[in-house]
Amino acid sequence: MLTLAHELGHGIHAYLARPQGIFQQGTPLTLAETASVFGETVTFGRLLDGVDDPGDRFPLLAENLEGQIATVFRQIAMNRFEDAVHTERRGVGELSVERFGELWLDSQRHMLGDGVEVTENYSTWWSYIPHFIHTPGYVYAYAYGQLLALSVYARYEAEGASFVPAYLDMLAAGGSKSPQALGRMVGVDLGDPTFWDGGLDIIERLLVDAEASARAAGLLA
Ligand SMILES: [Zn+2]
Repeated sequence: MLTLAHELGHGIHAYLARPQGIFQQGTPLTLAETASVFGETVTFGRLLDGVDDPGDRFPLLAENLEGQIATVFRQIAMNRFEDAVHTERRGVGELSVERFGELWLDSQRHMLGDGVEVTENYSTWWSYIPHFIHTPGYVYAYAYGQLLALSVYARYEAEGASFVPAYLDMLAAGGSKSPQALGRMVGVDLGDPTFWDGGLDIIERLLVDAEASARAAGLLA
């Protein structure tokens, strides 16, 4: 159901932006997930509202958090790896495969903390991410797009129905304006660091809710 809501968001975005024509209908990746994540978040909220039993709420919340971790925190950890590789290559010269592995393990351990034991065999796993080779500097856009979409949703939560007309206008603008200008249409300033906190706050609320549900269901001491 959430996948359907996600893809329907893309459909609505493309449909509303069709007067822009073929060159400006599509948005850059940074904004491409706005309508899809927005639709998914609305639908998820509705699903969750309909579930009272903590044992049923927990898997819903855990599944959602897994997705947030994969899209926001994991992509940032990959970006940190990529940045470290390129920076060291410029300063030191050609890097060995072993050095790639060390930088990968460092960045991934930094993200996982003491939650997961990262073993040596994981050191080669940077090599399965095609973006590092084919579209360098790309992976940040997943985290950027997700947090942007959640932050736009946070504006909707704060403003309610009065937010909707500006939101629809923004979708209808497609890719005809810069990300900053599209953001301004819904009253958000992409240059303001506190704007991003709106998205992170939503993730934190999910975590608090997941922990409370796990405790209430007797799954967590
Ligand atoms: Zn999508």
